[in-house]
Amino acid sequence: MKQEKIYLKDYKAPTFSVEGINLDFILNEDFCRVIAKSEIKKQTPGAELRLNGEELKLVSVKINGKALAAGEYETTEEELIIKTVPDIFTLEIETELQPQNNTSLEGLYKSSGIFCTQCEAQGFRKITYFFDRPDIMTSYSVTIEADKKKYPVLLSNGDRIKVEDVGNGRHKAFWRDPHKKPCYLFALVAGDLGVIRDTFTTKSGRKVNLEVYAAHGKQERCWHAMASLQKSMKWDEDTFGLEYDLNDYMIVAIDDFNAGAMENKGLNIFNSRLVLADSNSATDVDFHSIESVVAHEYFHNWTGNRVTLRDWFQLSLKEGLTVFRDQEFSADMTDRGVQRIEDVDALRAGQFAEDAGPNAHPVRPESCMAVDNFFTMTIYEKGSEVIRMMQTIVGRKGFRKGMDEYFKRHDGQAVTTEDFAAAISEPNGKDFSQFRRWYHQAGTPTIAINEHFDDAKGEYHLTLEQHCAPTPNQPTKDPFHVPLMMGLLDKSGQELPLSCDKIQVNTDGKNLIELKDKKETYVFKGLKDRPVLSILREFSAPVNLSWNAKEEDLYFLMEKDTDSFNRREMTQKLALRVFHKLIDQARNKAPLNMDSRFVNAMSALIRSNDMDPAFKAKMLQLPSYAVLAQVESVLDAEAFHQARVALRTAIARENRQQLLDIYHKYHGVDPKSHDPKVFGHRSLKNQALTYLAELNDPEIMDVVNNQYQQAQNMTDRMTALMILADSESKHREAALNDFYQNWKDDSVVINKWFTAQATTSRKQTLEDVKALTKHPAFNITNPNNVYSLLRAFGANLVRFHDPKTDAYEFYADKILEIDGKNPQVAARLCAAFNFVQKLDPVMKDKVLTQIKRMVAVPNLSKNSRELLQSALT
Ligand code: ZN
Repeated sequence: MKQEKIYLKDYKAPTFSVEGINLDFILNEDFCRVIAKSEIKKQTPGAELRLNGEELKLVSVKINGKALAAGEYETTEEELIIKTVPDIFTLEIETELQPQNNTSLEGLYKSSGIFCTQCEAQGFRKITYFFDRPDIMTSYSVTIEADKKKYPVLLSNGDRIKVEDVGNGRHKAFWRDPHKKPCYLFALVAGDLGVIRDTFTTKSGRKVNLEVYAAHGKQERCWHAMASLQKSMKWDEDTFGLEYDLNDYMIVAIDDFNAGAMENKGLNIFNSRLVLADSNSATDVDFHSIESVVAHEYFHNWTGNRVTLRDWFQLSLKEGLTVFRDQEFSADMTDRGVQRIEDVDALRAGQFAEDAGPNAHPVRPESCMAVDNFFTMTIYEKGSEVIRMMQTIVGRKGFRKGMDEYFKRHDGQAVTTEDFAAAISEPNGKDFSQFRRWYHQAGTPTIAINEHFDDAKGEYHLTLEQHCAPTPNQPTKDPFHVPLMMGLLDKSGQELPLSCDKIQVNTDGKNLIELKDKKETYVFKGLKDRPVLSILREFSAPVNLSWNAKEEDLYFLMEKDTDSFNRREMTQKLALRVFHKLIDQARNKAPLNMDSRFVNAMSALIRSNDMDPAFKAKMLQLPSYAVLAQVESVLDAEAFHQARVALRTAIARENRQQLLDIYHKYHGVDPKSHDPKVFGHRSLKNQALTYLAELNDPEIMDVVNNQYQQAQNMTDRMTALMILADSESKHREAALNDFYQNWKDDSVVINKWFTAQATTSRKQTLEDVKALTKHPAFNITNPNNVYSLLRAFGANLVRFHDPKTDAYEFYADKILEIDGKNPQVAARLCAAFNFVQKLDPVMKDKVLTQIKRMVAVPNLSKNSRELLQSALT
């Protein structure tokens, strides 16, 4: 296996084109045969033919029907090379595969007896020799032949042509996809599956057959995915004028899947955890994730499939844009303000950490070892923020104009992020040349804020200065073009008119500062009193603020800001200040002094009656350990934990009765409803219950246990189970056993049971996790099992970074064990080591010892190697 870097600057246009490909699959139990017949045209005189292929058994190669002799071609570990080929020819390649032994879950593999594929990013080369690059687009005709009893369902992309019997108890299906596509969007499914069906009629009258497939007996849990698909199709028509372009749309749920889901043309393949849901088995969060991922994959049909990537360095062209689209969809389906808070929380906890760690990379990277390592929070979530900033600068109307232009220019093409930026900026008369640095420079910029009020002149001076710390290979950065949504408030909380000539108003009427220089001062005139600044409204740019704001201003904004995002942001800022002091005291073994002003403010929130419950739940949520790990200079997990428990306990103690009142008010309200409003009620009452659980009060634990026992939906059951699992309550063991007995045969649900035990703050968590890796329900080749037990443990900062345990060594052992079978899954575990620079010297040394041990393994995959060795430099 080559372990070299590939570079964007080495990109070369293809030297051949493919006019069409026929793929014949003959599926058997012991081996499968693939015959690939392509019509190829030379585009560059003299070019030699080089096709990608890995782990293939080559049976024969024919050019224009004539088999090549051994000396007429060459194969290496990664390629098939034919030095001289005609200008136009038919290439026929026969290969043999063993999907039943494919543990990498890329290419063609088997999951619970079902044949399925995952070709993105480079899995197609494990099916046949081909140009495995996204800028080779062609039309596909596919046949699948298999045993009729074992594999009654035979699916591929595009239009169903026919199915015929071929004797011997076997049948054969014919598919044809009229749309040209890159091979990473190819898909095949063969198996015995249940299905639900419905339709959607597009605005121009095309009646589309919608099908969702799952294991027999599970199909009744697919209706939420079906409804989500219908909503997405309608939303994309209403919002962007985009219609579906085939007669069939299929979703298939698979139990063994490396990622969340895949947007293969007309045939999405999903991790079953993102399809199957009913109120008994899925939480409100699951319902919400399913809706958003179904939408995400559907939206790819235009942003990804119709317009695709020139090369993998452009991945954010489709992923950032499609995440932006699914976030906007979710905002329209639920509550815009709450959705934005959730999206920013996820960005901060995951992407900001990535951007500050050893694997920081730009949204459009320049180099990599393993393309599959690009499926990161930076490419997806920061990529989405970059698109959002474009929309903020040109406004919604302007953005729609730009999107129309993008499809007008590039439908059917494989393009770059530069093409996208041009399509948005040019019709809007905007210059994005500086803006494009967001694609090229890694790292999270910090904006330092300085305020000065000149009483005599009635002028408010706001000075902004941007800075971005070095990231790997980027020691210095040029200034970014930062859109900052802002406002000034008077003493009563009213918005003041902004008399400053540097303020832009976008087409939505929002006030913006477009900071472009390293440092700039904005003068606001005609003010009687010192105004209160509200800046970075709606989190209009992915930046940190360094703002030594007056505490009274933060409390004022928390109560009065007209921007709901910033109201909640102020609770986070204040909580971080409180945590900082407590962590300091804990680290110095001093008594923890509670900040009564903050506790009182939280009490006032708890007692307020005029707040939307979903928003109130967000207001009460304190910053996560992952956020603390970024803002504190040392990751001292034990001190973080003490600080957090102390603050939460203080809030709970002050408000025991009020929290119980909230709990009872919303408990049992419409337990089966999937309405986002009801989700909000449940999240508030479960938030109240988790606060109360800090009190270690047996009476409260009885309430928790009753909720567990009597729950009528998985949200309530899981909340109670998580609380019990993280306690020493006498109900703990019985609840965990009960849950296991009820769900042991349900591969999706049992993962929740693993996570509940892997994420506790109890001292014996590591021992529990070790034992669970030997439990009959745990299968190390199943990615969901690995993520819900091991990755969840790696993200449990308190127990993962416990100096008294050998957690790092155990975790490294598991990475090595998994790496041999499935490099993509192993690589996803490596992120747990991203905080290495934040550890104290003793812990850092322990981590580095493990990383060195892993990197020394000669056949470590390039996926894991790339992510681990960066921590050593
Ligand atoms: Zn995607």
